[in-house]
Parts: sequence; structure tokens; C-alpha cells
Amino acid sequence: MSRHIYDRLLWPEGKKRTLTLSYDDGVTQDIRLLEILNRYGIKATFNLNPGLWGEKGTVSAGKKTVPHDKLSAQQLKPLYQGHEMAAHGQYHMALWGMDPARCMEEILTSRREVERLTGNPMTGYAYAFGADEAAIVEAARQCGLAYARTIASTGNFRLPDDLLRWHPTCHHDDENLFQLAEQFLNDDLLFSPDGPARLFYLWGHSYEFEQNDNWDHIEAFISQVAHKENIWYATNGEIAQYLTAYRRLVFSADSRYVYNPSALAIWLGSSFSDISIMVTSGETKELPMLVI
Ligand SMILES: [Zn+2]
Repeated sequence: MSRHIYDRLLWPEGKKRTLTLSYDDGVTQDIRLLEILNRYGIKATFNLNPGLWGEKGTVSAGKKTVPHDKLSAQQLKPLYQGHEMAAHGQYHMALWGMDPARCMEEILTSRREVERLTGNPMTGYAYAFGADEAAIVEAARQCGLAYARTIASTGNFRLPDDLLRWHPTCHHDDENLFQLAEQFLNDDLLFSPDGPARLFYLWGHSYEFEQNDNWDHIEAFISQVAHKENIWYATNGEIAQYLTAYRRLVFSADSRYVYNPSALAIWLGSSFSDISIMVTSGETKELPMLVI
């Protein structure tokens, strides 16, 4: 026999799954990616380098050379409507080994420029080149960021312990992509260290679909995971906000009561139960106890 408390995170509306995408560099190939995402109702976060907006270039990185043309400032806002614009460094500099002032300049300037463009506070980031050594993560913290993505794949659907080192599930070229998607859609195990909630976090660059000539690859994945009743389709920022609000819930020592000090309604569940409980903003709620 064991006792279970309704204190595990569920996503909004009591959903057990959330899906988010993160694409870097703000290049013209994002236009085609967005056309696919919008057709299927999938949300993504796009990580931008304001100091390079409108610049033209190419990229090879060991593959076919393709254009690496940055979208212009005028194109960004209407294009990314319904998605999230986040920062990726002002000039996409490699920050390894740089002193804190230079790291902060690169990070904070890009944050400020994206905020000026959108007219909203914005606290999301993706480390350029995946550079997430301790001094750079600390600079991100000092710049007031709420989350920052790395490029270290986890291959699982667990929630991030540290949002400033938010490791994605996988890159879109991962050989296990479709297997992971199947597992994500069908795994209904209630018990895990985190509880029942799952997170699928995919990342990449849209120019890679042109390099590999495989736009059908991302569309196949998107069509596989789209239009599911039990998935919350969200941007990185929406997930980070919700997770942060969940982690700020205040529980009584005996787990019978919970207080939600945030502005968001939070859904709670329990291992071994399919019931979900909503705790609205500012509410103190008595929680049921499950004995099995
Ligand atoms: Zn990049």
C-alpha cells in the first residue's frame, strides 16, 4: 500500500504531453518551415541574431553549401506571428572562454533587440554553437533569462531540472526521431520520477532541410504528432512559464493543501490516477489523497 498526492505536474487542461520546437538563426528557409508548422497547428520558438538581420551568406558545415540569408527586421514580426521569437546572441559569436562582460554584452544586446521588435518582455535564449560552459550559463542568468537551450540531446521526454541548461529531446536528424515520436504518442506509463507529464523538444536549423533535400522528413514528423487531443502545442517560452509557475506552488507540509501564487492556472495529477485537478491563480485548494 502507498499514498499518492495530487502534486504532479500536468500540462494545461490536464494534458499529459507537450510538444515544442526550437529553430535557430532566423534564416529565409524558416518561411517554408513556418508554412508547414502553421498548416498543422504546431508552435515553435525561433532564436534570432539581431546584429545580423538582413545579412546574406552561405553555410556548409560539412554538407551541401546552401544560402544562409538572415531574414530582415521587417520580415520577422508578421512571419513569426503565433510563434515565439527568442534570442541567440547579437552576432552569433562563439562565447567559449570569453570574459563575463563580453558574454553578457552578446546575450543582453540580442535580448534587448528582440524585445524592441516585439514590444514584449522576452526571456528566452539558445546558446550559439551550443556553448553552455558554466561562465556562459552564469552570464545568461545575469541577463535575466528564464530559459536557455543547449544542443545536448536527452533522447527522453523528461522535464528540465535547470531551465538555463534546457537539453532538447533530439535534433530532427536523429536516427531515432520517428521511433521517439511513436513512443511519445503511445507511452501511457503513469509512474516516473517526474510523474505523468511528458515533453518532446525538437531542435534544428531550417537550412538543413535544404542541405539534405529532405523537407518531407520534417513534414512526416509534424503530420505524425499534429492534431492530437492530449498534446499541448506550445512555444518554449509558454512551457518555461508554466513549469516555473508549477515549481512555485506552495504545498502544506502534510500535502493536503496547495497555494498557487502565480497568474496561471495549474493542473495537477498523481501517479496511478487519471484524475486532474485545476488550481486557479491565487487559489488555495484542498487536495484529495489516493491510497492504493
Ligand atoms: Zn546558431
